[in-house]
Amino acid sequence: MPIDPNFQKKRKKVGKEEGIAIWGPVKPPEKFGIHGTYVAVDWDICEGCGICLKVCPQQLYEWMETSNHPISEKKAFPARELDCVQCYKCETKCPAQAIRIVYPGPTGWLAWLTVPLMFLQIIAGIIYGVLLGPFLDLQILFYAGWLILPVALLFFFSIAIYFRKEGKPGEGKGLMNTTVLVESGTYAIVRHPQLLGGILLMSASILIPQHWLSAIIGVPIIVWWYSEAVKEEKGLIVKFGEPYKRYMKKVPRINFVLGVIRLLQRRKREVKVDR
Ligand code: SF4
Ligand code: SF4
Repeated sequence: MPIDPNFQKKRKKVGKEEGIAIWGPVKPPEKFGIHGTYVAVDWDICEGCGICLKVCPQQLYEWMETSNHPISEKKAFPARELDCVQCYKCETKCPAQAIRIVYPGPTGWLAWLTVPLMFLQIIAGIIYGVLLGPFLDLQILFYAGWLILPVALLFFFSIAIYFRKEGKPGEGKGLMNTTVLVESGTYAIVRHPQLLGGILLMSASILIPQHWLSAIIGVPIIVWWYSEAVKEEKGLIVKFGEPYKRYMKKVPRINFVLGVIRLLQRRKREVKVDR
C-alpha cells in the first residue's frame, strides 16, 4: 500500500528526529511511522533500496537504522527536507511508493508575517485612497496606481490558470506542485508573473493612498518577495535542468517591458520561419 496522501490530516505528530517531524503511530521495531512533512517517507513500507538517495539532486536523504523492522533494517531519512526542489524524481521512482512530496511555500516567520501584512496593506491602501484621497495629493501617481491595479491582479492570478492548464501538478496535489515547465501565457512574458503581480499590487497600494505608512510596509515586502523569487529560481534550475536555463535566456525574470519586446520578436521570427 502506498503512503497515505492525507497523512497530515489522519495521523498525529508524535515527535521529531533531527528537527524532522515524525507522524505516528510509532511502535518499534514493527512501526516507525512517517518521517518528514514536505518530503515524507513512510518507513513502514520503505524497502531500503536506496533509489531516492541516488536520484535526489539535492542529496537531502540519509540512511537511518531500523533494526528488526519486518521490511528492512535501514530507511531513507529526509534529513534536509526544506532543500527539496520538487523535482519528484524520488517520489516517482520509489518502488514501494513510500514517498510523498508536498510544496511547502515560503517558509519561516518572515513569510507568516509578510503574506497577511501584504493583503492588509493592499485593502487598507485602497480603502484609504477611496475614502480620503491621496495623502500627498499627487493626482498623476494616484491615477497611475489605479491603472496598475488591474494589470497587477491579472499577473498575480494568472498563475492559477497556467499552472492548472499546463503545469500538470501531481494527483491530489496543489497547483504549486508542477511537474512540467510552464512557458506560455504570462509565463511567456516574465518568468515570475505572480512576483511581478505582487510587486505591482504593492506599488499600487503605495501610490493610491500616498501615505508614509504604506511605503514603510510596502517597500520591505517588495524586497523580501524579490529575494524569495531569486532563491526559488536556484531550485527551478535543479528541478528542470537545461530547459529552464534556456527559458531564462529567453524570458526575463520580471521586466515586463523587455518581456513583451522579446515575445514580439519571437513571434516575428516564428512567422518568418512559417513562410
Ligand atoms: S526509494 Fe523508496 S523504498 Fe527505496 S529507500 Fe527510498 S523510500 Fe525506501
Ligand atoms: S523531489 Fe527531488 S529534490 Fe525533492 S527529495 Fe525528491 S528527489 Fe530530492
